[in-house]
Amino acid sequence: MERASKIAHVEIIKNPEVQALIDDCELPSPPAAAKLEDLFTTFGAADQSGVSLVIAIDGGCTETYVRQAYPSAQIAFFTFGPLLFKLADLRTLEDQRFIAPEDLQRLKQLERYTLVLPIRGVRRKGELSLSATVRRTIHEFFARNRGNEHDQLLVSLRWFLFRRWAKPADDSLAVEIPSCPSGCGERGITFRYVDPDERLCPNCGAPVYLTDVFRLHERVDEETGGGGIVSYVMTMLEQLVLVHLVYNVLRIKPDLLGQVLFIKDGPLAFFGVVAPLYRPMRDLIGHLMSEHIASKGPRILLAGLEKSGAFVEHAAAISDRIPRGSYAVLGDSYIRRYVVPGGNDGAVYGNNTYYGQKVLFRADSGELYVATVPATSYLAEPAPKDLPHLELILGLIGELRCSMYDNALIPVALANKLVSLSDHPSQRILTTFVRQVGSAR
Ligand SMILES: [Zn+2]
Repeated sequence: MERASKIAHVEIIKNPEVQALIDDCELPSPPAAAKLEDLFTTFGAADQSGVSLVIAIDGGCTETYVRQAYPSAQIAFFTFGPLLFKLADLRTLEDQRFIAPEDLQRLKQLERYTLVLPIRGVRRKGELSLSATVRRTIHEFFARNRGNEHDQLLVSLRWFLFRRWAKPADDSLAVEIPSCPSGCGERGITFRYVDPDERLCPNCGAPVYLTDVFRLHERVDEETGGGGIVSYVMTMLEQLVLVHLVYNVLRIKPDLLGQVLFIKDGPLAFFGVVAPLYRPMRDLIGHLMSEHIASKGPRILLAGLEKSGAFVEHAAAISDRIPRGSYAVLGDSYIRRYVVPGGNDGAVYGNNTYYGQKVLFRADSGELYVATVPATSYLAEPAPKDLPHLELILGLIGELRCSMYDNALIPVALANKLVSLSDHPSQRILTTFVRQVGSAR
């Protein structure tokens, strides 16, 4: 098989039409050594004493069959949540060769969330379609009461979408669902803060949820299914958990916020149908930063860490030319030229997806990282001074490394370990779920 595919690859590359296309394309290549030397800055030693906790947010997803025989029925099982670590405990763990199960006990799971999302050949009782099934499942997941009054994802989602951190809050802010999710053609259905989380479409009378703002229904096809939304849902959920944490820390103990380093697996960005959520996220980060600078409000320390993709490949390509203990904040012109080709004056890289800037760095120990760190506002050509606490954040990430996992941080590596332990949906959850759903036909 492998030999056959190699032959096929050679044949394809030799094809004159493929050759003609490649001749007509620009493929990015690494910059010259001199250019890199200018780009990288040496770390200073930042004061880490104010930071005592690390919260890593991470998740995993398994797509599986609930019925394999025709007509097949498929679900996606998401498990995700924040893990809290004391920096002091992590520093002890760093010296150990293996992580013992009892060490895992020291890592406090703040809350593990699980979501079962139907993605193919499944329809919930009382719903007319797969799309309606997906929407109601997401709505119920956010609306679920998880114990106390505020521990409901919908509460923090409303705080987030309607920017309730603003003083005074703006009650005229509206969230728009571009068109009726049931497909009746009604356009521009809006929610305001005072509105309930569920209303009826003024034209067809079908329910519209506030969570339809995610627009997942636009990518759910009744025949081919909703497999295309899985990765968007995963990153959306991880980042809304981050919002939920920030909301609750600010509500209960605002001073704690500045003592926490938040680490998210993957870039600080929203992609695909949920991309518009970058706007409230930029507003939230911008609010926290301006409050911190202007009136000594709590700071926000946050980084997204990438393990795959164009930036990781780029970092690997230039790794031997990046000095230890140095970093570079990447701007649009560098990214467009060397990492992700394209762009023009009107299209700054990440402008419609990101809420942080790209940073390449190499820790003193040699490990290489691709991070996203928020700036005071999203900039085309950011400088290190535009990213508050940058050297503190990078210093901590560099220190949290664990030699057992190449290029992995202890928190993320352990989070992955914990997630993988609960990766396989338990039979109980599946049976409960299957009982609730009707057959596809
Ligand atoms: Zn309608």
